[in-house]
Amino acid sequence: MQSDDLIQQWKKAVSEKNLPNTDAFKTLPLANSEKLDEDILSLHNHFSACIDCLSCANCCKTTVTVFSHEDINKASRFLGVSKKEFIKKYLIEDMGEFTTITTPCPFLLPDNKCRIYEARPHACQSFPHTGRPHFLKRLNAHKNNLKVCPITYHVVSGIKS
Ligand code: SF4
Ligand code: SF4
Repeated sequence: MQSDDLIQQWKKAVSEKNLPNTDAFKTLPLANSEKLDEDILSLHNHFSACIDCLSCANCCKTTVTVFSHEDINKASRFLGVSKKEFIKKYLIEDMGEFTTITTPCPFLLPDNKCRIYEARPHACQSFPHTGRPHFLKRLNAHKNNLKVCPITYHVVSGIKS
């Protein structure tokens, strides 16, 4: 299936509130097994290759992003500004955690590209985390991301329960 069709399918499921029930996974016979992670990784690789993030950018449009100190160093160097300037202009601090000041993300360009792509934070590099081991340990995050990310929706929908 084409990227646009997969994205449309996800949008329809979100608007009809017809999202997969992740609670069922906790009782899968292979729950917490390496085999389950292998199957999910294969779904992740398939749908990440099929879905064009530049036609979507929904994560960049609708969620805030966490920046670690290392991320801040890297991105401020990339933009050629001081760390202090970078924080003042683009981030907000809450309980010691820095996140982007706005949604959509201040680095999202009109063509859905990322202005700091080469220096984007770790959280953006690994989003939507469906290719990482221990899928079930991140079940709550995946559940929340069903409404955010078509890759997550299709990966989770493809898990055999
Ligand atoms: S929400 Fe998912 S599919 Fe859309 S741009 Fe982000 S990672 Fe890609
Ligand atoms: S830093 Fe780049 S990849 Fe990350 S949310 Fe912003 S625009 Fe998207």
